Amino acid sequence: MTTLLLPTGADTGGVLADAQRQLAQAVEVLGYDDGLHAMLATPRRELTVAVPLRRDDGSTTLFTGHRVQHNLSRGPAKGGLRYSPHVSLDEVRALAMWMTWKCALLDVPYGGAKGGIALDRTQLSDAELERVTRRFTSEILPLIGPERDIPAPDIGTDERVMAWMMDTYSVATGYTVPGVVTGKPLNLGGSRGRASATSRGVVHVALRALEHVGLTGPGRTAAVQGFGKVGRDTARFLTEAGVRVVAVSDQYGALHNPRGLDVAALADHVDATGRVPGFPLADELPPADLLELDVDLLVPAAVEGVITAENAPRVRARVVVEGANGPTTTEADRVLEERGVLVVPDILANAGGVVVSYFEWVQANQAYWWNEHDVEDRLAERMTSAWTDVTDAARRRGLSLRAAAMCLAVERVADAHNLRGLYP
Ligand code: GLU
Repeated sequence: MTTLLLPTGADTGGVLADAQRQLAQAVEVLGYDDGLHAMLATPRRELTVAVPLRRDDGSTTLFTGHRVQHNLSRGPAKGGLRYSPHVSLDEVRALAMWMTWKCALLDVPYGGAKGGIALDRTQLSDAELERVTRRFTSEILPLIGPERDIPAPDIGTDERVMAWMMDTYSVATGYTVPGVVTGKPLNLGGSRGRASATSRGVVHVALRALEHVGLTGPGRTAAVQGFGKVGRDTARFLTEAGVRVVAVSDQYGALHNPRGLDVAALADHVDATGRVPGFPLADELPPADLLELDVDLLVPAAVEGVITAENAPRVRARVVVEGANGPTTTEADRVLEERGVLVVPDILANAGGVVVSYFEWVQANQAYWWNEHDVEDRLAERMTSAWTDVTDAARRRGLSLRAAAMCLAVERVADAHNLRGLYP
């Protein structure tokens, strides 16, 4: 009997249920038995910790943090650390599972992990952010390490958080260990090209996908949801590639300009004000409408679960490229497929980040630094070959890009598991 880790509570919806359904579909195509399915569906290790924070005013606030290692068959666990009020154990489980498939699909030698603390970053001072990060890192010390589990940035975390994690781990170890995290500042062993790597990867596959559906040359349009670590540079690189970005949004609101947004001026505006709304050279748009604009390309690059059964029938984009993890629910996926919308799945589309994390880890472990061209050429090569693998598999098996990507990834993980065998 397969025991699947469905989300807690009566509800069978939610992000973990979506991740489990995607796995179940791949397992069915691959014809695996229940035992193997259960192994692939279940996290290898989970650690939930209390994270008490001494506030600047002397009081204490208690947060809850998690680190989930989903699978270790192909190498050390790898995945980001998220700070958001919406973090839950089920969300971290789903994100850890997606990391396993992403690493396998891009053939980087890692398993999958994810971590998170349920907190609102905007309610913490920088000093509080540092203390909460160091305390959480010390709580998960037994799990992490350059050969064990390597955290990286995700929503709400950045290169400073990675520097504090690296320092806390290194102080406990007694010497500097730059390979314990990726996404570090450049002069602490970060990699050139890491900060924009996810966006570069998104744009590599977005251009391929547009070509794939016959959309080439000038006049192509895009809408990008999210203007953070992924969305902002995605909008920039799309513009540089000649795609007209007509709408973007952040958590505060959305903007629309059918003639194309001046993305560089918008980035300056966001640097100055901290938010997208208020930019003078565009009209404000209800944020939900961005997903339904008549554009060639839609890039959801914010959070999971935004394209749902409710709005999927109204998505007019020809191509959806998932910059975020899990932005499309399983039901929405089905609707988009029926309507002939090409969806490039997250585990392919946003994998540029973990690919350059891998390059950073290799550089840190060898203490030898690559130049920007090395990083970008090797990233482009990895993204292109994963795109080819997935589109070939989709054609061969008659599957959607997501189902094909999942089959390839799950097969690689299962294969590693079978080759290693069970101990004892
Ligand atoms: N948080 C990113 C992701 O979801 C990067 C993970 C990493 O570099 O380890 O892919």
